[in-house]
Amino acid sequence: MKIICVGLNYRKHAAEMNRPVPAEPMIFLKPDSAILKKNKPFFIPDFSSDVQYEAEIVLRISKLGKGIAVKYAERYYDALTVGIDFTARDLQSRFSREGHPWELSKTFDGSAPLGTFVPKEKFADVRDISFTLEINGTLRQSGNTSDLIFSFAEIISYLSKYYTLKTGDLIFTGTPSGVGPVCSGDNLVARLEGETVLDFFAR
Ligand code: MG
Repeated sequence: MKIICVGLNYRKHAAEMNRPVPAEPMIFLKPDSAILKKNKPFFIPDFSSDVQYEAEIVLRISKLGKGIAVKYAERYYDALTVGIDFTARDLQSRFSREGHPWELSKTFDGSAPLGTFVPKEKFADVRDISFTLEINGTLRQSGNTSDLIFSFAEIISYLSKYYTLKTGDLIFTGTPSGVGPVCSGDNLVARLEGETVLDFFAR
């Protein structure tokens, strides 16, 4: 099973990171040991002093595919949720500065909490899905898929040129603006169209 992530897929987030809007999807992978399920606590790793949350809609791939055309790509996932792409921002900055891959800053154990999946057919239009992240009851991130730079179908088509997509693979589709640090004791609650799909604590 693969966890594939798209970076800088919302304009306002690219702007807050002082990065240009990418001309094609920016991709990285997390290992399966990154996944946290069932609202288990996230333990802030001691190798970073600036772990940040990035709430993202996650797609669950439902059939095998390779070289998928954009017009057929919507058939390749059957459920959505919200996940967090936890990022050790200090390590990411240092690795970037040194010209090294920043893989470790985003792929460590527990860096991918996953909410409960909602069947795709429950959404009237996948190009108009709202999602939010609240921390300790305060709204921190609010996104809508109408603001995606690369749509779900474009992401799936693009990825399938490079990877065979398999049932159960997950795709993190990028975070909207409002990313920031997570602190021990924080309660993170993510909602998809107003429905709570993820509710956990950082320790
Ligand atoms: Mg991200």
